[in-house]
Amino acid sequence: MNASDKSREAGAPRLLILGGTAEARELATALQARGGFALSLSLAGRTRNPLPSDAPTRSGGFGGVEGLEAHLKAERIDALIDATHPFAATMSHNAAQAARRAGVPLLALLRPEWPRQPGDIWSEVADIPEAVEKLGPAPRRVLVALGRNEVRALEAAPQHHYLVRSIDPVEPPLAVPQARYIEARGPFAEEDEHALLTAHRIDAILSKNSGGEATYGKIAAARALGIEVVMVARPPRPPVETVASVGEVLAWLKKFGRAL
Ligand code: NAP
Repeated sequence: MNASDKSREAGAPRLLILGGTAEARELATALQARGGFALSLSLAGRTRNPLPSDAPTRSGGFGGVEGLEAHLKAERIDALIDATHPFAATMSHNAAQAARRAGVPLLALLRPEWPRQPGDIWSEVADIPEAVEKLGPAPRRVLVALGRNEVRALEAAPQHHYLVRSIDPVEPPLAVPQARYIEARGPFAEEDEHALLTAHRIDAILSKNSGGEATYGKIAAARALGIEVVMVARPPRPPVETVASVGEVLAWLKKFGRAL
């Protein structure tokens, strides 16, 4: 019997973690080891082979706000942690509404943005279509660090050479004449990113301001090499209580557990 099973038996508070991030997995692992909560980690089900977690995991959408509200009620969830990616804005807005309707306390875990450092050459844009436009009319050699569901926007600018990196393959391939594909999952070390940018003679990077260390290597390498980063700003978030680290979630849950 693992710690979560014991917790369920003891009528422990029931916790739903909206995941899809390293932080969500880290949080689930920490809670699983400590016990005291009946835990469920939720994934959208986009990645073909998600990294395994010790925590009980469910996969797939809930069916919008109503679906999540129904799930919170049916599963008698006592607290909801939104540990989704900073760009998973739909899920975060749904979580805020569903938690309010179901009367379930909600805490968001949001990693800090990457700040612009001296030497960075960043063009900050509001969304991915604007990022593609920002590359300009002349052909460039671009490392694309976007999700495979976001890269179709590149087809609006077929003049560039794209090096597209994603966890799962881009299928079908992009309708552009010059694209190469790399399947890889972070973390990516700065020196490896430096080597990749140099080997492919990259002169621009398309990136979201995801924050975190796992994918910061390309940003640091771009700074060292004087390469422009077209940086997509984060989408707006719902106004909910938010912390920046797994440790702060654990502290919140400790207080929360005592209050029950
Ligand atoms: P999104 O646009 O905010 O959400 C779209 C829909 O996917 C949601 O309405 C929901 O479907 C479902 N969904 C999203 N996260 C879910 C979760 N943790 N559990 C169950 N259903 C979920 O999200 P996205 O940007 O496509 O991201 C999908 C997943 O990938 C998230 O778990 C996110 O943390 C992770 N991720 C995203 C990015 C990124 O850049 N966007 C990067 C790394 C990881 P229903 O409406 O049917 O409930």
